[in-house]
Amino acid sequence: MTSVKVNVARSIELVGSESARLDVEVLLAHILGRERTWLYTWPEYELSVAEQSEFDALLERRKNGEPVAHLTGEREFWSLTLKVDPSTLIPRPDTELLVEVALTLCPQEGLHALDLGTGTGAIAFALASEKPSWHIVAAEKSKKALALAEENRKRLGFTNVQVLESDWFAQLPPQRFSLIVSNPPYIDAADPHLSEGDVRFEPHTALVADRGGLADIEQIAVQAGEYLEDSGWLLVEHGWQQAESVRGIFTAAGYRAVESRRDYSGWERLTLG
Ligand code: GLN
Repeated sequence: MTSVKVNVARSIELVGSESARLDVEVLLAHILGRERTWLYTWPEYELSVAEQSEFDALLERRKNGEPVAHLTGEREFWSLTLKVDPSTLIPRPDTELLVEVALTLCPQEGLHALDLGTGTGAIAFALASEKPSWHIVAAEKSKKALALAEENRKRLGFTNVQVLESDWFAQLPPQRFSLIVSNPPYIDAADPHLSEGDVRFEPHTALVADRGGLADIEQIAVQAGEYLEDSGWLLVEHGWQQAESVRGIFTAAGYRAVESRRDYSGWERLTLG
């Protein structure tokens, strides 16, 4: 029988992707119901026949490109473990920038915030975890994603987040928010990146937008005016080449104090106004 240590080395060759070691460790830890660090504290552990075959099956699916988060059914975001399935975008570390900036812009308590296109609920729950006094609406148009967000809300126990069905603002009751955030679809349909890696297994509706990827951002910026307090903030994530266009959209829609923020790699991935 093979030890975990041997499995890790062998599996990296099998998977052959850049993140192979991490992928293999996450999958092994998932099967064993352990933390990833446990693999290092007990490298001589021998997999049972059942564990070995479960592991081999997951490796096979990973080799076919399925995202690790779909294989384990979960993904870490901020300090939270979220359930994930193919009905939504898999939360990405990039989006933690939006959470950080939102918390810096809005230090106050008791604030009313809206997360549009919440997916798993990642942004809404990250904000809720830092700000238990906030009232947060998490809106989502996909019924399947909505059910997932609600399941995450219950598991994490956030009573200050309300998960609502709405296609952007369409089904929201009239109300004012001090903060509106969104990680909307913003990829151009012709982007070759769509046929590579994890995005192949994510819903197009969560990724692709018309007009070079800017259509949904523009719709949100224009309609948010009716839902924002006068001194409220709108924050959207976008692609690394879209900052100038998004600033143009915000400015044309009448926002003040429009600026983009850089991520840790130096790309402008977020615009606020
Ligand atoms: N940043 C993601 C990607 O490039 C896309 C996220 C989105 O469209 N909101 O894979």
